[in-house]
Amino acid sequence: MSYVDEVLESVIAKNPAEPEFHQAVREVLESIRPVIEKNEDAFRKDALLERITNPERQIKFRVPWVDDKGNVQVNTGYRVQFNSAIGPYKGGLRLHPSVNLGIIKFLGFEQIFKNSLTGLPIGGGKGGSDFDPKGKSDREVMAFCQSFMTELCKYIGADTDVPAGDIGTGAREIGYMFGQYKRLRGVFEGVLTGKGLSYGGSLARTEATGYGLLYITEELLKSKGDSLNGKTVVVSGAGNVAIYAIQKAQQLGAKVVTCSDSTGWVYDPDGIDVAALKEIKEVKRARLTEYKSYRPNSEYHEGKGVWTVKADIALPCATQNELGIDDAKALVANGVKAVCEGANMPTTEEATKFFQDNGVFFIPGKAANAGGVATSALEMSQNSERLSWTFDEVDAKLKGIMVNLFHNIDDAAKRYGFEGNYVVGANIAGFEKVLDAMNAQGIV
Ligand code: GLU
Repeated sequence: MSYVDEVLESVIAKNPAEPEFHQAVREVLESIRPVIEKNEDAFRKDALLERITNPERQIKFRVPWVDDKGNVQVNTGYRVQFNSAIGPYKGGLRLHPSVNLGIIKFLGFEQIFKNSLTGLPIGGGKGGSDFDPKGKSDREVMAFCQSFMTELCKYIGADTDVPAGDIGTGAREIGYMFGQYKRLRGVFEGVLTGKGLSYGGSLARTEATGYGLLYITEELLKSKGDSLNGKTVVVSGAGNVAIYAIQKAQQLGAKVVTCSDSTGWVYDPDGIDVAALKEIKEVKRARLTEYKSYRPNSEYHEGKGVWTVKADIALPCATQNELGIDDAKALVANGVKAVCEGANMPTTEEATKFFQDNGVFFIPGKAANAGGVATSALEMSQNSERLSWTFDEVDAKLKGIMVNLFHNIDDAAKRYGFEGNYVVGANIAGFEKVLDAMNAQGIV
């Protein structure tokens, strides 16, 4: 059996009931097969693939807190420190009821290659909890965040592991966690990114994932002699990534006609009103059902449906495996040209293959959404030099990073004879740097 197949089989056997982790590992190992098979005996002897698919460390802990009724609630906290070959562990904290160890491992594994692709010195990690901030009071969210950080603070630090936001963890949660870290450890340091501007945050970090997604999409289209100007775009999600993706798409001349949340979706034929969306989601923390009161011409539908709308470009910005084979078929039938992932692994394996087989340009999340973590690394740089850069400075750096990233994955795909396959290109380009650093550092 080939070394890649051996390791795939053992990852599945040794990590049972973690389908998302298996999916992420399968995608990477299948992509780097040509690199491995060139030198299979050496890779096997060094157990390189076993090392890269085993987290360096995984931490699981109890998070007790008291709700507004005086009852004790217990959640589970996680931090998976996956790979520190190229820098301190870096990656977000997801707060969502679906969180379990397998989800955090899939996200942490993806983060290794994503962070490598940014070209910045950050390793891969991820964490979170099955706590659901939805419907909780600020005091309850603070109680949870303080309890979570009381345990997590033992394992993180500005030079060891720097968590950030993800689904369910925004500016409010980062603020509470930072305050508790500072109180317990007695140091004011850049231990978290996505901080508020008044205490060490970076301008443009809030916008970065969505903006970065559009910068890479524009560069992809430019490489085909096209642009976003005049295009119709469908976006899923209504969180931080979706909001700023919609805003930047509009600035680049596209019309974005959809967004969605966990209960329904909106179709706005005149283009999504970002100010209304921000007010509903960021200020009121409400449901998309409210959107119609701002825009009477729009439609609200329960359930899923964004991918049934005719569009040139699709940007899935909600969550993993939200775009399946039937969605892919509907998009292709409607003439979609490009799909770029704003979320982490939002497209199923079958749907990804369907896009590629039908000539749709497809950029995977680990490349397309890397602008968020890249700007987190810029926040770390600013914290280290105790300075803050202007919005335009950070935004220009972000744009440069995304443009370079596109050409790196495009070149890597071409080098191995997979021109236009940005999944293979991203995995190979991300892997090569980590591999080099792991080899240089010996068996650790
Ligand atoms: N959660 C984001 C991601 O998936 C950002 C992580 C960070 O800024 O560290 O990449």
